[in-house]
Amino acid sequence: MSGRIGVLTSGGDAQGMNAALRAVVRTALHHGVDVFAICEGYRGMVEGADRIRPLGWESVGGILHRGGTVIGTARCEAFQTRDGRLTAAENLVRHDIDRLVVIGGDGSLTGAHVFWQEWPSLVGELVQSGRAAADAAARHPHLGIVGLVGSIDNDMFGTDMTIGADTALHRITEAIDAISSTAASHQRSFVVKVMGRNCGYLALMGALSTGADWVLIPESPPDVDDWERVMCERLEAGRRAGRRDSIVVLAEGARDRHGKTIGSSYVQKVVEERMKEEVRVTVLGHVQRGGSPSAFDRNLGTIMGHAAVEAILAAPPAAEPQLIGMRGNRVVTSPLMDCVEKTHEVARAIAAGDFEKAMGLRGRSFGEAFRTLRTFVRAMPRAPEVGQRSLRLAVLNAGAPSPGMNTAARAAVRLGIDRGHVMLGIVNGFAGLAEGKTRELDWMSVNGWASMGGSELGTSRKVPKGGELYAIARAIEEQRIQGLLVIGGWSGYEAAYRLSRERANFPAFGVPIVCLPAAIGNNLPGSELAIGADTALNCIVEAVDKIKRSAVAARRVFVVEVMGRNCGYLALMSGLATGAERVYLNEEGVTLSDLVTDVESLSRGFREGKRLGVMIRNENCNLVYTTGFMCALFEEEGGDAFDVRQAILGHLQQGGDPSPFDRIQASRLATRSVDFLVEQASRGSSESAFIGLQGGKIQLVPLEDFPRHADEAKQRPKTQWWLDLRPIAHLLAQPGPGASTKPSTAS
Ligand code: ADP
Repeated sequence: MSGRIGVLTSGGDAQGMNAALRAVVRTALHHGVDVFAICEGYRGMVEGADRIRPLGWESVGGILHRGGTVIGTARCEAFQTRDGRLTAAENLVRHDIDRLVVIGGDGSLTGAHVFWQEWPSLVGELVQSGRAAADAAARHPHLGIVGLVGSIDNDMFGTDMTIGADTALHRITEAIDAISSTAASHQRSFVVKVMGRNCGYLALMGALSTGADWVLIPESPPDVDDWERVMCERLEAGRRAGRRDSIVVLAEGARDRHGKTIGSSYVQKVVEERMKEEVRVTVLGHVQRGGSPSAFDRNLGTIMGHAAVEAILAAPPAAEPQLIGMRGNRVVTSPLMDCVEKTHEVARAIAAGDFEKAMGLRGRSFGEAFRTLRTFVRAMPRAPEVGQRSLRLAVLNAGAPSPGMNTAARAAVRLGIDRGHVMLGIVNGFAGLAEGKTRELDWMSVNGWASMGGSELGTSRKVPKGGELYAIARAIEEQRIQGLLVIGGWSGYEAAYRLSRERANFPAFGVPIVCLPAAIGNNLPGSELAIGADTALNCIVEAVDKIKRSAVAARRVFVVEVMGRNCGYLALMSGLATGAERVYLNEEGVTLSDLVTDVESLSRGFREGKRLGVMIRNENCNLVYTTGFMCALFEEEGGDAFDVRQAILGHLQQGGDPSPFDRIQASRLATRSVDFLVEQASRGSSESAFIGLQGGKIQLVPLEDFPRHADEAKQRPKTQWWLDLRPIAHLLAQPGPGASTKPSTAS
């Protein structure tokens, strides 16, 4: 195989496909390989002619923020026939293309596999029938295929997340938040129907992130025949506890135990009859496919697109098609057909009524999210069971406010109360604890917190010392606190660690403590992602999109300063998601010669027709070369080529309402934290930990290991996984010396 790479998007469109396309094109060009768009999916492959066109570096510029796919997608019946595929092969051979990156759902990927299997015989037939020259066919004995899953349903094996699912969840969450406020005003119930024929991911996560009251998904139908009664009793119990609205989230493929579809009007009728109130139905439909892709989907598409080209170039001839996926934050590659097969197995298990198998196949975190949701919808204020010891557990926020803090606090409080414990809220973090500022939180006191940004409890950056430690010890004793959940950032971790080190002096500190990572800068040890970072990233990405649009008419460079202190996570990830020319990180530092090189490269770019440059700097990348200094330097040295503006994004990065991802993780982590505290406190243990996500799983690290994982001087973890993404950001931002920037001519 020596040919060109073809790239197509096929089947249902999904947000983030453009990011994948951009990464495929630029990575291929970086390797000096020509790349062709096959427009309108397989239909374009069958139709040929100008549906197959060369792409250059610039032809995929400015598309990261766009939803859908700029090269079009379609469904194509002809490709389902051998005749159609024969014509498709003819067109590829004509264009010297023998490597394909297919971005689509399981249908498109199945088609790709069939095409790969048939390729040698298709090419043979083309030669025999005189439709292809023997030498042209001989150059392409095999077809190389790598698949990426573009699907909002998140229904595919081989990857934790599919391209588009996170954005769809953004749309769903926005809609349910909006519906909740009107529903609460009128004391109404709503049934919200979301996409997902065989996969309840969107319904489940949508319900979890909005605090909905009930969810119906295909993989796990209600386990009793009179589920209607059980559901309505739950909704009524919620109202008795003080809720003013009830929301049922329904996946389009939901069914009962006997395989009968559960439609939205049926749920409406059932609830109306029972609750004797108006029930409204909202079918979200194509809104879920719409809008600008989230930061996550842009980066997922980018990372996968890059990996696809690396994989296809490294594959031996006749290699079996592979699927690129992500596990945790790492790229994984698996045989494409295995993934398609397993995906179909779930659909078959559902059709056969084997729901245990269907849930098992969906994987651990899906099952865990489902169990968490069930716990939440069933959780109700209740008294401790006879003989059970009721514990007094306290929750506090520490550090700067981070979106998702409230979501985590709400989850912890409701679960704690459900299990019969007393939940205390501490006002204003450790400073408030030293002053004894606590209040008992009841069920309704955390109502609505799932979707609220900021910190309702109040937070502070105080790390107690000296007499404050004594005051805190007294407050713990007086309030009889038996376990402490610290939801917060660096200062919260430091404070918790200090308390645990002072146990010999202050026996009151001998209670279990859990630190739950909540910091927009993502600078906490023990977790690859902190709550709030995803929200902040989306705020930055939206702001940079707007900044870029403001400059369409001018030749301008923007220096955008983002938060993060000594941790460059937000700078790098927002640079990757917005296609910034350059990111400056504290981890790498900035030298004067870097700045000189950058200004030269900008000047060259603008002379060659560039119209806009975005440089993203982490606020502490260099304390001397400030944003103002960099702007002045670029302005002066850039001469007439461009002018320069600065944008210091400031606190808008901290203030948003939490993104679906942050809400889901906050709920998952809080659930595990409460379990941990209850377990330790019940057996009188003072074992303490910091909790987090590692490789997609929740893990607890003993608190005493804090110094081993933390770079205390820099206030960030000693190892940071995302630094490995720097070469991709660099490669995609600007063409390297070897990369061809102009499209090759079509043959
Ligand atoms: P998705 O890729 O989103 O699952 P579809 O199932 O509609 O969407 O598939 C998209 C296209 O992929 C189809 O229109 C068809 O051209 C092709 N395709 C799907 N299944 C096959 C198959 N078994 N053989 C050949 N082509 C297929």
